[in-house]
Amino acid sequence: MAMMTGAEYIESLRKLNTRVYMFGEKIENWVDHPMIRPSINCVAMTYDLAHDPQYEDLMTATSHLTGKKINRFANIHQSTDDLRKKVKMQRLLGQKTASCFQRCVGMDAFNAVYSTTYEIDKKYGTTYHDNFKKFLEFIQENDLVVDGAMTDPKGDRSRAPHAQDDADLFVRIKERREDGIVVRGAKCHQTGSVNSHWHIIMPTIAMGPDDKDYAVSFACPSDAEGMFMIYGRQSCDTRKLEEGADIDLGNKQFGGQEALVVFDDVFIPNEYIFMAGEYDFAGMLVERFAGFHRQSYGGCKVGVGDVVIGATALAAEYNGVEKASAVKDKLIEMTHLNETLYCCGIACSSEGHPTESGSYIIDLLLANVCKQNVTRFPYEIVRLAEDVAGGLMVTMPGEKDFKSDTVVGRNGETIGDFCNKFFVGNGKCSTEERMRVMRFLENICLGSSAVGYRTESMHGAGSPQAQRIMIARQGNIQGKKELAKAIAGIK
Ligand code: SF4
Ligand code: FE
Repeated sequence: MAMMTGAEYIESLRKLNTRVYMFGEKIENWVDHPMIRPSINCVAMTYDLAHDPQYEDLMTATSHLTGKKINRFANIHQSTDDLRKKVKMQRLLGQKTASCFQRCVGMDAFNAVYSTTYEIDKKYGTTYHDNFKKFLEFIQENDLVVDGAMTDPKGDRSRAPHAQDDADLFVRIKERREDGIVVRGAKCHQTGSVNSHWHIIMPTIAMGPDDKDYAVSFACPSDAEGMFMIYGRQSCDTRKLEEGADIDLGNKQFGGQEALVVFDDVFIPNEYIFMAGEYDFAGMLVERFAGFHRQSYGGCKVGVGDVVIGATALAAEYNGVEKASAVKDKLIEMTHLNETLYCCGIACSSEGHPTESGSYIIDLLLANVCKQNVTRFPYEIVRLAEDVAGGLMVTMPGEKDFKSDTVVGRNGETIGDFCNKFFVGNGKCSTEERMRVMRFLENICLGSSAVGYRTESMHGAGSPQAQRIMIARQGNIQGKKELAKAIAGIK
């Protein structure tokens, strides 16, 4: 099958029987639900751009399994060039959507599972790598979206999976059968889960022998029997339910998505199992997936940052302050921060190396430094955006006021007349254009898109402390001590 278009992708979702719940009720037509659809539009962009000749080099790759042209989101990285192109593709998509476009979690899972299963098989003589290659070929051939699911609910963080009061707080093998396994548990904060055709489940932490049943990785269709999703709320999300909502949404077309994915005893046939008890490889899988996703943030968040910087510059222009040196300097600072993140994304890719399986992996230390910076810089970027834009982005009346023809003035002026009169900007932009840019900044700094640009920058791909642990492990302080000793003349 050829690569799908965005429209074909959206149609393909209608064929799934994915169970989705929101506000305590089942959503039958979730594809057209106003709170969900913007996130679907985002994923559709990953399909449409792959058909645009000007982006072909970034958006597509050649499958190392079949030699066919595939969407880069289904690619196993074959070189450092592939790793760099991945980051550039993510920056492009961030620029086009100003949101989380979700498909990267699957791509990062493919690359982590591909290389890890090779090493599990080498040690234990299992056939997980072959299972995975067959699964990946099916995904590539059908151009499907896969949710890479890692984060378990975790309960009491001080206790291992097997030591929790409730045995289900980490996804586990509940039953082993001749033809497969039955799994139970849940994955939290699952980016794009509703919009994915399939899921790949991975363990969330390194494990010991007592956690054998929790060391499990597998693939399953998103509408597997016993599986369902409870949709995550976002700030200001019900604005999307308002009739005719447009300007007040800030970003009408695109958005991100997270959900709680529940496995209420789901049967997984043997052919879709990639790890089932090899606890000594759980840490490797986690480290690799996290590393790839920490690299990803050096692309996607930079692309969104480009739009934030652009909106801030527009707000300054509409306010008539774009020539003020203080404003110019703030835009320089925002650009410096944003490009520093990009440097990290490109650097960890350029310093990548082959794994035992032959696929390429990023430099783990640099990828963790990349994500550590992402836990900070977007916060500073939105602080500067709010500084330059002014308080209007959170105090402005609603779209319906600006459009209201209710007469309230002594001379027959409407509510809309007063709003348009008093919120006029530099005289060169319309009041509506000024509203649009303010609402966009509100959305990305505080509204539904703040999930993707702010809090996800903090906790997505692992919270800051997780990167610091990796930086400590990879930082080679002992080697640095030796350097100092040699220069200082210490024996
Ligand atoms: Fe992709 Fe970024 Fe969303 Fe992760 S947070 S899925 S890297 S867009
Ligand atoms: Fe994320």
